[in-house]
Amino acid sequence: MSEQIVPAAEPVTETAPAPQCPRCRRNPIEAFAGDTGAGSRMALARSAIRICGDCGVDEAVRDARGLAPIPLGEWPYTGELLTWTGAR
Ligand SMILES: [Zn+2]
Repeated sequence: MSEQIVPAAEPVTETAPAPQCPRCRRNPIEAFAGDTGAGSRMALARSAIRICGDCGVDEAVRDARGLAPIPLGEWPYTGELLTWTGAR
Protein backbone atom coordinates (compact mmCIF):
# COMPACT_ATOMS: atom_id res chain seq x y z
CA MET A 1 0.00 0.00 0.00
CA SER A 2 1.44 3.37 -1.01
CA GLU A 3 1.21 6.32 1.29
CA GLN A 4 -0.49 9.36 -0.12
CA ILE A 5 1.22 12.64 0.42
CA VAL A 6 -1.29 15.35 1.10
CA PRO A 7 0.00 18.89 0.60
CA ALA A 8 -0.42 21.18 3.56
CA ALA A 9 -3.12 23.77 3.21
CA GLU A 10 -2.07 27.31 2.47
CA PRO A 11 -2.22 29.43 5.61
CA VAL A 12 -5.22 31.71 5.58
CA THR A 13 -4.22 35.34 5.66
CA GLU A 14 -6.61 37.87 7.06
CA THR A 15 -5.09 40.86 5.31
CA ALA A 16 -6.95 42.18 2.31
CA PRO A 17 -4.92 42.68 -0.85
CA ALA A 18 -3.46 46.16 -1.13
CA PRO A 19 -5.58 48.39 -3.36
CA GLN A 20 -4.07 48.83 -6.79
CA CYS A 21 -3.25 52.25 -8.20
CA PRO A 22 -6.18 53.27 -10.45
CA ARG A 23 -3.84 55.22 -12.75
CA CYS A 24 -1.40 52.46 -13.77
CA ARG A 25 -2.94 49.31 -12.27
CA ARG A 26 0.64 48.08 -11.88
CA ASN A 27 1.57 49.18 -8.39
CA PRO A 28 -0.21 49.11 -5.08
CA ILE A 29 -1.04 52.58 -3.78
CA GLU A 30 0.81 51.60 -0.61
CA ALA A 31 4.36 50.63 -1.54
CA PHE A 32 5.16 49.96 2.12
CA ALA A 33 3.31 49.99 5.41
CA GLY A 34 2.19 53.50 6.20
CA ASP A 35 2.75 54.75 2.64
CA THR A 36 -0.19 56.88 1.57
CA GLY A 37 0.79 57.05 -2.10
CA ALA A 38 0.21 60.32 -3.90
CA GLY A 39 -2.76 62.54 -4.63
CA SER A 40 -3.57 62.78 -8.33
CA ARG A 41 -3.37 66.22 -9.89
CA MET A 42 -6.36 65.22 -12.02
CA ALA A 43 -8.69 65.74 -9.09
CA LEU A 44 -9.71 69.20 -7.92
CA ALA A 45 -8.89 68.13 -4.39
CA ARG A 46 -5.50 66.43 -4.54
CA SER A 47 -6.48 63.93 -1.88
CA ALA A 48 -9.62 62.80 -3.74
CA ILE A 49 -7.86 60.24 -5.94
CA ARG A 50 -5.03 58.25 -4.41
CA ILE A 51 -2.42 56.95 -6.83
CA CYS A 52 0.90 55.19 -6.37
CA GLY A 53 4.13 57.06 -5.76
CA ASP A 54 5.46 56.28 -9.25
CA CYS A 55 2.35 57.81 -10.83
CA GLY A 56 2.65 60.80 -8.51
CA VAL A 57 6.16 61.38 -9.83
CA ASP A 58 4.98 60.89 -13.42
CA GLU A 59 2.28 63.54 -12.98
CA ALA A 60 4.75 65.94 -11.34
CA VAL A 61 7.34 65.48 -14.11
CA ARG A 62 4.69 66.01 -16.81
CA ASP A 63 3.53 69.14 -15.03
CA ALA A 64 7.09 70.47 -14.65
CA ARG A 65 7.93 69.76 -18.31
CA GLY A 66 4.71 71.29 -19.60
CA LEU A 67 3.49 67.94 -20.91
CA ALA A 68 -0.23 67.20 -21.07
CA PRO A 69 -1.50 65.11 -18.14
CA ILE A 70 -2.92 61.65 -18.74
CA PRO A 71 -6.70 62.24 -18.64
CA LEU A 72 -8.81 60.13 -16.33
CA GLY A 73 -10.51 58.60 -19.38
CA GLU A 74 -7.16 57.10 -20.46
CA TRP A 75 -6.56 55.36 -17.12
CA PRO A 76 -5.18 52.79 -16.66
CA TYR A 77 -2.16 54.30 -18.36
CA THR A 78 0.01 51.60 -19.90
CA GLY A 79 2.89 53.74 -21.16
CA GLU A 80 6.18 54.32 -19.43
CA LEU A 81 6.07 56.34 -16.25
CA LEU A 82 8.36 59.35 -16.27
CA THR A 83 10.86 60.03 -13.53
CA TRP A 84 12.96 63.10 -12.85
CA THR A 85 15.91 61.40 -14.58
CA GLY A 86 14.13 59.69 -17.48
CA ALA A 87 11.48 57.04 -18.13
CA ARG A 88 11.04 54.11 -15.82
ZN1 LIG B 1 0.27 54.09 -10.40
